[in-house]
Amino acid sequence: MQPTRREKAPRPPANIVIVDDEISSVIVLEAAVKDLGKVTSTTTPEDALKLIRDIQPEVVLMDIDMGEYNGVELCKQIKNAPETAKTAVIFVTSHNNPDLEYFSLDSGGIDFLTKPINLKTCKMRVANQLALRYYAEDLENAKKALFNEKEHFKATLNSIGDGVIATDAEGFVTFLNPIAQHMTGMKESEAVGCHIETVMKLKDATTHEKAINPAVAALYEERVVGMALNCQLYSHTGNVYRVEDSAAPIVDANGNVTGSIVVFHDVSESIAMAVKMNHLANNDQLTGLPNRILLHDRLEQAIKISKQNKLMTALMLIDIDNFKYLNDSLGHHIGDMLIKQVARRLDSIMDANCTLARVGGDEFVLLIPNVQAVRILNSIASDIQASMQKPFVLEDQEYNLSVSIGISINPTDAETEGHMMRNADVAMFRAKKQGKQRYCFFSQNLEQDLHERIELEKILREAIDKNSVEVFFQPQINLTTQKINSAEALARLKDKNGNYIPPPKFIALAEELGLIDQLGQQILRKSCIAAKEWYDRGKEIRVCVNVSALQFCAPGYFEQVFSVLEETNLRTSMLELEVTETLLMQDINLVESVLRDLSLTGIFIAIDDFGTGYSSLSYLKRLPVDVLKIDQSFVFDMLQDKQSLDIVKTISDLGHSLGLNLVGEGIETAEHEEILKSFGCQIGQGYHYHKPLAKKDFETIIL
Ligand code: C2E
Ligand code: MG
Ligand code: MG
Repeated sequence: MQPTRREKAPRPPANIVIVDDEISSVIVLEAAVKDLGKVTSTTTPEDALKLIRDIQPEVVLMDIDMGEYNGVELCKQIKNAPETAKTAVIFVTSHNNPDLEYFSLDSGGIDFLTKPINLKTCKMRVANQLALRYYAEDLENAKKALFNEKEHFKATLNSIGDGVIATDAEGFVTFLNPIAQHMTGMKESEAVGCHIETVMKLKDATTHEKAINPAVAALYEERVVGMALNCQLYSHTGNVYRVEDSAAPIVDANGNVTGSIVVFHDVSESIAMAVKMNHLANNDQLTGLPNRILLHDRLEQAIKISKQNKLMTALMLIDIDNFKYLNDSLGHHIGDMLIKQVARRLDSIMDANCTLARVGGDEFVLLIPNVQAVRILNSIASDIQASMQKPFVLEDQEYNLSVSIGISINPTDAETEGHMMRNADVAMFRAKKQGKQRYCFFSQNLEQDLHERIELEKILREAIDKNSVEVFFQPQINLTTQKINSAEALARLKDKNGNYIPPPKFIALAEELGLIDQLGQQILRKSCIAAKEWYDRGKEIRVCVNVSALQFCAPGYFEQVFSVLEETNLRTSMLELEVTETLLMQDINLVESVLRDLSLTGIFIAIDDFGTGYSSLSYLKRLPVDVLKIDQSFVFDMLQDKQSLDIVKTISDLGHSLGLNLVGEGIETAEHEEILKSFGCQIGQGYHYHKPLAKKDFETIIL
């Protein structure tokens, strides 16, 4: 069976050799010591030396006077041979002569027995010698074990990755391992004997003031001491390490402190890593500015401190105008570079106690603590606007940018950080709506707007989800035949009181919220279903569906339209898409290619509200357009305003020269109709004929 623990081997019996030429003496001596070990005797002294060398006994009992052999001489020889040098020789003699006793002890003998032998005394004397011999052996073994253990610890300390320094009770170094030598820049030979504070120079990493060595504290306080956080070790070779660890006192068996041990390691790398991680978590990768997380923290702090100081905290949400367009048309690489340059410009004009954060693609937030007066904010916002005036230069190209800014103030308009962010957002939207490149403070009106917006968002999302957006149809009249050949589909949404919400309102919101695709798709589908139904009932009414520029430019628009036509089985010529002039100001290549695809299928393309935008004539020539819809504002005014009348005439002439159909919108009176007709306008739409009608009302007219 495998032993469970290593047992100490039992000590073998002692060897005792008796040398005496008198057999009677031998018998007595054997009787005396027989219990103490293995006894070998000889009465022939000439054999004794060989016997003793062979056995190497612990004790020899030796007669002095053995005829021509002298025990003293024999003893000298035993003591001189290395293998028997430790053998204890006890002389036995019948002479009672002090000189002889001296000589025998001087020859290396250890004890002296006189005959006649007292058995008990003899046994005791031999037993004492054996005990001494064993004690010496144990001591020797203990010394060896201690040495081995010391070597073992040394090897361990030398191979571990931490620095280890040992000191005595006064703090003077007694040992340091190779790592400690490397980090302190002192060899063991230089450091041992020096005080720990000389060897290990510690400073506070922030204040650079001397830090107390933990060994000193451990010795003084007689307890384990952790190294102060934020500690730096200055090596004697000029290196600096961030270190961390502890010291402990060494206490002896009586509880006295005899020294100390400091264990330490280099944490420079892990601290650098922690700093980096912290930076990554709190900062925007592209610009290096604080991100939303860090902003949140700082805002919380700023509100608290400003409150204590009885001052205000302001938040400015800065959004780059038309950035999406720039990014899409120039590519993300240029977009990223622009963002970086904008960040740099904003950062350069910012006060040190402000925080500039990047919180979204093209959105920055400037946090301004301790604001004394609102006019300061006016001037900061103006400075920001002014800083954008100079063109941005990227790869030898100049780009002009502007920003819109929304401002929220705590505690004037918002109590919490969440409210501040939301209010700044609402104010920023207002600035955009007012024409961009301006700043706007949050106000009570905006608060009201905000509530309406939240309510409207709810209604809109619900209607999209439930497929309950209504579509009204407004007849378009052939001015020559007075027949209805087409109708404009107009989206309708009711508020919670059952009143219709103006379409421009919810359409703009759907665009902001990214819901315009879904909304547009729903209206298109409902319009096509209706047109197919009428067609099947023998009425060819083309539906004219409005398309938002955002919806049109989204990827997959053509496929969306086509799939609805397939699904509803409507002929392409029964569908007209109304795009606005703003669409023509987007990426013209994209717009042209999608329009061409649509037109090739047979779908009609109309330009809505023509005359209000800035579409260039050259574009108009290039694009596959079928219809121009003269904006109703000119039609309203043309009776009183000569300029409007001229515009209507010019648009009509333009339409004719490009071979396009003309639709006059907003015809409210017979007079309107008369003028438009005289200009050659073929189609009319307006309250003079019909208001937009619910599907069933529309059907009572056409069917
Ligand atoms: P729009 O495309 O120019 O549509 C004509 C607007 O003029 C309609 O307003 C219509 O009700 C109104 N209207 C027609 N005849 C007269 C008239 O004789 N006098 C007056 N004062 N107004 C007249 P509505 O329905 O309020 O729509 C407003 C705008 O909302 C539309 O202008 C269009 O730009 C947009 N819109 C409506 N439905 C949709 C839609 O489904 N998708 C998209 N993207 N936009 C839509
Ligand atoms: Mg329209
Ligand atoms: Mg219109």
